[in-house]
Amino acid sequence: MGVGVVRLGLPREAAAARAVSADERLEALGSQWVRLDEAVLVWGQSDETARSAGLRVEAPSEEPAIEDLRLVTQVGRVFERKHPEVRVVLDKGRHLVVQLGGEQARRIDRENDVCYRVRPLVAGETVFCTVVPPPGTPEPREKALVGAVSRGTFEGYLTRLAAFPTRHSLSADFETAAAWAHAELERLGFTVEAVPISVESGTSMNVIAEGAGQGPGARGVVIVCAHLDSVNVDGGPSAPAPGADDNGSGAAAVLEMGRVLSGHSGAHDLRLILFGGEEQGLFGSRQYVEGLPTGERSRVRAVINMDMVATLNTPEATVLLEGAAVSQGLIDELAAAAATYTRLLVQTSLDPFNSDHEPFIDAGMPAVLTIEGADRGNGNVHSAEDTLDHIDYDLALEIVRMNVAACAAALGSV
Ligand SMILES: [Zn+2]
Repeated sequence: MGVGVVRLGLPREAAAARAVSADERLEALGSQWVRLDEAVLVWGQSDETARSAGLRVEAPSEEPAIEDLRLVTQVGRVFERKHPEVRVVLDKGRHLVVQLGGEQARRIDRENDVCYRVRPLVAGETVFCTVVPPPGTPEPREKALVGAVSRGTFEGYLTRLAAFPTRHSLSADFETAAAWAHAELERLGFTVEAVPISVESGTSMNVIAEGAGQGPGARGVVIVCAHLDSVNVDGGPSAPAPGADDNGSGAAAVLEMGRVLSGHSGAHDLRLILFGGEEQGLFGSRQYVEGLPTGERSRVRAVINMDMVATLNTPEATVLLEGAAVSQGLIDELAAAAATYTRLLVQTSLDPFNSDHEPFIDAGMPAVLTIEGADRGNGNVHSAEDTLDHIDYDLALEIVRMNVAACAAALGSV
């Protein structure tokens, strides 16, 4: 039995107007479906079942069997660039459904590339979907902080970071970039330390800045983080790697959030972290989490990670909030902040992949990746082409505003 695709239609207006929800319509299909936002792969269905659920099945020209399909989660378009021979059945940018069976699937599995993951489809799984939270009422303190987000300073930070020839974790330029960020965070009033980490056979560092909260007694901590390093996968440590979007944008956003939240009046501590060694396989964040004593882990109220927040790959400015069950509450907070303070379209996923939120989630802490939406993948990352020319400042600033509001809420008030 072959596989077909049904379209649920795009959210926002549609979600509000439609009497029968997407979930209800999917229920009518039993469990023989996998959803990637508005596109749903279905199999083993009669046209009639689909029709009665109000869904029209588009059959692909050659019908693959469900056993021959895999879910790919990729950074940028790394999987497609490396494997142009693999047929893409459904293309949602960060997520693809591809036709891949037998020996070819096993060969790709063995590659163990850190920039993509290939796994079987799980029946009844929503890989990601758009959510439409109702807008809340702005809270005065959050509103003031959101209003302080500035294009000028964000652009200045990002321009500075993208001007380094590379920020490869094992390069001298990375050290210079880290020293610059360290100095900037100190200037903003944070207590900053550079912590050495090992990356493959070399050493690099994490830059960690602390802003104490005002709460009495035992305080929690809110972590805002991004990786500072960049990479050019086809070249070595000295090949050009401006990493404007990946991840100059996230690192600049950490600095901008630090500027807005410096001297914050929240109850809990604020910790900003710029990780090294992310591109080689999350070295900085894994070592950071491993080194956190149990008592420190339990103080962590929220981890907001930013990795690629400034390329517009979708018709509307869209953010993907990617976490796991442990971070569902934080996902809801971020989605509510987006609805209240921004015009962002929000997508959510509970299938975390390949960024610094993962080690926190693995250790049971509520971490969420906030990343640009990707209906159309970002083909420039990990190359010399990841330059400021492709940056969409409006998208990045909207994501920063959402994160500032959610961070302020998590910091609490005294
Ligand atoms: Zn990245």
